[in-house]
Amino acid sequence: MKPATSGSCRPDPSPSSSSAPPPSRYESQKRRDWNTFLQYLRNHKPPLTLTRCSGVHVIEFLKYLDQFGKTKVHVTTCFFFGHSDPASPCACPHKQAWGSLDSLIGRLRAAYDEYGGRSDPNPFAARAVGVYLREVKDNQGKARGITYQKYRRKPTVRLDVD
Ligand SMILES: [Zn+2]
Repeated sequence: MKPATSGSCRPDPSPSSSSAPPPSRYESQKRRDWNTFLQYLRNHKPPLTLTRCSGVHVIEFLKYLDQFGKTKVHVTTCFFFGHSDPASPCACPHKQAWGSLDSLIGRLRAAYDEYGGRSDPNPFAARAVGVYLREVKDNQGKARGITYQKYRRKPTVRLDVD
């Protein structure tokens, strides 16, 4: 039995009362995102390995994900640009919401440190990625995309992958 050392505020690791900060849901989501990214690298043309991956490729990956997005982002020339509730359909593309991308990058940055990163700089922490995310946030804030998830639980997304 050792008394708590002064200066150290680390609590005793008691399994019952510890408020485990990282929930397992986050961990599994992180794992899934990481696998998605690795799969993206495997399918990349020309082939790309993790060690050769830079912020440019991370941005490419984020743009690639837009095709699965559910947030309508009006282009500046669209009649509904700036409206959150368009009265009729328009041809503007669906994209990933900024908030989703932002938290995705957070998870991938952590995953890279855990699973992949050697001594290389973390591509998910690259300055270009931060700049890109800020642009997305800015654009989506202006366009006021609406989330179609609200209306339809299962959007009919066709994936012609093979
Ligand atoms: Zn539109």
